[in-house]
Amino acid sequence: MDASPIHDIFVIGGGINGCGIARDAVGRGFSVYLAEMNDLASGTSSGSTKLIHGGLRYLEFYEFRLVREALMEREVLWKNAPHIIWPMRFVLPYAKGLRPAWLIRLGLFLYDHIGGRKLLPATKTLDMASDPAGKPLKPLFRKAFEYSDGWVNDARLVALNARDAADRGAIVRTRTKVVSARRDGALWTVKVQNVLTGETEEVRARLLVNAAGPWVDHVLQTAVGQNEVHNVRLVQGSHIVVSKKFDDPRAYFFQNKDGRIIFAIPYEEEFTLIGTTDRDYPGDPHEVKISDAEIDYLCAAASEYFAQPVKRSDIVWTYSAVRPLYDDGASKAQEATRDYVLKADGGEGAAPLVNAFGGKITTFRRLAESMLEKIEGFLGKRGKPWTHDAPLPGGDFPATGFDAQVARLKSTYPFLDQRLARRFTRLYGTRAEKLLGLAKSNADLGRNFGADVFEAEVRYLAENEWAVTAEDVLWRRTKRGLHFSREQTAALEEFMRGLSSRHVAAAE
Ligand SMILES: Cc1cc2nc3c(=O)[nH]c(=O)nc-3n(C[C@H](O)[C@H](O)[C@H](O)COP(=O)(O)OP(=O)(O)OC[C@H]3O[C@@H](n4cnc5c(N)ncnc54)[C@H](O)[C@@H]3O)c2cc1C
Repeated sequence: MDASPIHDIFVIGGGINGCGIARDAVGRGFSVYLAEMNDLASGTSSGSTKLIHGGLRYLEFYEFRLVREALMEREVLWKNAPHIIWPMRFVLPYAKGLRPAWLIRLGLFLYDHIGGRKLLPATKTLDMASDPAGKPLKPLFRKAFEYSDGWVNDARLVALNARDAADRGAIVRTRTKVVSARRDGALWTVKVQNVLTGETEEVRARLLVNAAGPWVDHVLQTAVGQNEVHNVRLVQGSHIVVSKKFDDPRAYFFQNKDGRIIFAIPYEEEFTLIGTTDRDYPGDPHEVKISDAEIDYLCAAASEYFAQPVKRSDIVWTYSAVRPLYDDGASKAQEATRDYVLKADGGEGAAPLVNAFGGKITTFRRLAESMLEKIEGFLGKRGKPWTHDAPLPGGDFPATGFDAQVARLKSTYPFLDQRLARRFTRLYGTRAEKLLGLAKSNADLGRNFGADVFEAEVRYLAENEWAVTAEDVLWRRTKRGLHFSREQTAALEEFMRGLSSRHVAAAE
């Protein structure tokens, strides 16, 4: 007789969907075990364009359900995580020969009116000859539309969902791969392997959630043992980060001649983020990398608009990710639906499985609520939906109170300079005080590994947010990698090796 505990729900995947589902489920009273084979958000969820948006472009594909739900989520998510999510204005220059002005106006009218907008300002028209937004662009763009959407630190959204899930009692295991999942009557026996040590363990659960993103079909084939699965279409999207192309806090929405669009967004104070692309991806999602053709495409598309062309030599970093889009049979990658689909099997004596296909960062909370409806259909009702008004860790301050929160942190820790106080508030919100503890000076924060990444921050991330490697710290929990040299990275890596044996137990 196996005496190991039986969990209600086993979640495969520590991206935004897996972590969002785990958080919602544990908050309703289910016991939850989540396994992520790599780092949290190491899949698609750190490689997005980082917009909390309705998706203006999806209106052209009549995705009204998705757009409305996503628009409604903008202010909900902003209120629950005002440190990592904030409003952003987008400037969409009118370009002769592309979409007509009446069509853009119609789209923006719908955008303003179908999505429960309360705090976000409405659309307006800009005269680019007099508006500062016209300055960095070629003079041929005389008119533009300015509208609201939101920005999110995507990788941190994942880590904060995981943190909250663990605070509420979920078991969150990173570097833990699901190698097999077997139905034993009404229970699942899931074999997991610690990818750092090779050790395996069996975990039992009543219901299995497959939130493996681009690996969702792979998990069905290799771990669950299903044949011939083809639910998702893998579509690569890449971004380039270049030295700052403009000072304005607004982002740009550029239309391309091929019918696609790209964004140019202020990024990490000193940079501009430009993306994205859409191309079918046949390979292993782990191996995805920007291609030369994508770099050329992004440079050329942005150079159609900026007065100063975007050159390869401006690029300081690139990243790529794979969208796990539900395969609706669309002919072009850019036309495949961005909506999510949940499919279940099992029940009546056979342990249930629910798969999540597709989705957006923006709609993760609603996807989790829909998943919980399915779960409760199998396991019975436990609690009501609750995440609508529940701040994420560190997000318990008013949506419009970011500057006041920075001032509060500075008054408690007067030694912090403005930049560091802003950076800590942006990443950790009210939890910055947990990171800083009793520190009275920068020296109390320990060793500075470079770019003001102090030992106290690294320890906080290892102990509270499952960071194991320098890459976890520099490219997902923070973006300080943009400022780190190879030598500084190596020194941090060395330090983290000493911490990593203790991290998993500490994070829970
Ligand atoms: C280029 C691009 C731009 C985008 N821009 C936006 C945007 O601006 N706004 C927006 O809302 N959305 C955007 N999206 C969509 C959004 O990023 C994705 O829908 C979302 O991140 C998917 O999350 P996920 O949790 O389903 O997948 P993932 O984040 O990939 O998570 C799945 C996880 O499962 C793990 N896993 C897989 N197999 C196993 C196993 N056997 N055992 C354990 N773990 C396993 C993986 O390691 C991975 O971490 C964009 C996507 C792309 C690619």
